[in-house]
Amino acid sequence: MTMLVRIWGCRGSLPVATNTSKLRVRLIAALQAARWKTLGSKEEIIRFMDAELDFSVTHSFGGNTACVEIESGGSDYVACDLGSGAREFGNRALAAANPGKSDTFHFFVSHLHWDHIMGFPFFAPAYVAGNRIRIYGCHPNLAEGFVRQQRAPHFPVQLSQMAADIQFVQLEAGVSAEIAGFSVTPKLQQHSGDSYGYRFEQSGKSIVYSTDSEHKLEQTEHTRAFVEFFRDADLVLFDAMYSLTDTISVKEDWGHSSNIVGVELCQMAGAKHLCLFHHEPIYEDEQLETLWRDSQRLEEITRSGQPLRISSAFDGMEILV
Ligand SMILES: [Zn+2]
Ligand SMILES: [Zn+2]
Repeated sequence: MTMLVRIWGCRGSLPVATNTSKLRVRLIAALQAARWKTLGSKEEIIRFMDAELDFSVTHSFGGNTACVEIESGGSDYVACDLGSGAREFGNRALAAANPGKSDTFHFFVSHLHWDHIMGFPFFAPAYVAGNRIRIYGCHPNLAEGFVRQQRAPHFPVQLSQMAADIQFVQLEAGVSAEIAGFSVTPKLQQHSGDSYGYRFEQSGKSIVYSTDSEHKLEQTEHTRAFVEFFRDADLVLFDAMYSLTDTISVKEDWGHSSNIVGVELCQMAGAKHLCLFHHEPIYEDEQLETLWRDSQRLEEITRSGQPLRISSAFDGMEILV
């Protein structure tokens, strides 16, 4: 059976927007590259874009903060985190809703930092009576974190005024739960105020969502535990916020990790696909493409077993697992 992972938001810390001058730079690059080509049909244009333009010209690595949907064919929605990407996710779910029929949403929250919950007040299905929303997490103050961000004077609508049936469900790190057809196992991660990764398993497939997590590979016990958490995963969404230089110098102990550590952990774990996630907001698309290409080169040089596929998350990305 095939699962579909859809990235609604992958930026770390703060949503970022593009602007006209950046857009014009892209357009100029694309038009310059196309100037001697005969591109008649839309298909020819798409083929040209994919084959000849840089990825960072044809794609944007995204503006929204963390929200990742996992579609497994069940009737309920399943997603990780409620960053600003949850707004578009909610709109899409609402557009797909059957009249007269309610929906159930299961959200697994890594932690209560603002970038991971800020989308909930804009999650339109939460305003629809009859819908059921279950928000899972391991922080004891899970509900309070959500209630507080909608309290006056921060937002005009209190969480208790949202029409859907919203419930918070406490999970325990290391203890698997059966939810929406998945076996879900949370794992405590090193991050300011703690964060939790989630491993989802269904029909022999496994997806790990591990963001806002710092790793120090010299801590052998920690490394061993994460290698087990990532073991043979079909997909690992990994906090690769910084470059290695940053993580071992100025940004050490800032609670995030790098693309290099992601490659090493996934290789040790025999994971099949590493998706770089939680992009640093100050990085432009060209820098993010460079980080991604560097990660692919590192993987090729250091490969000892099966190849590890490496991608870099962008809003709207869909990954088949
Ligand atoms: Zn974050
Ligand atoms: Zn955080």
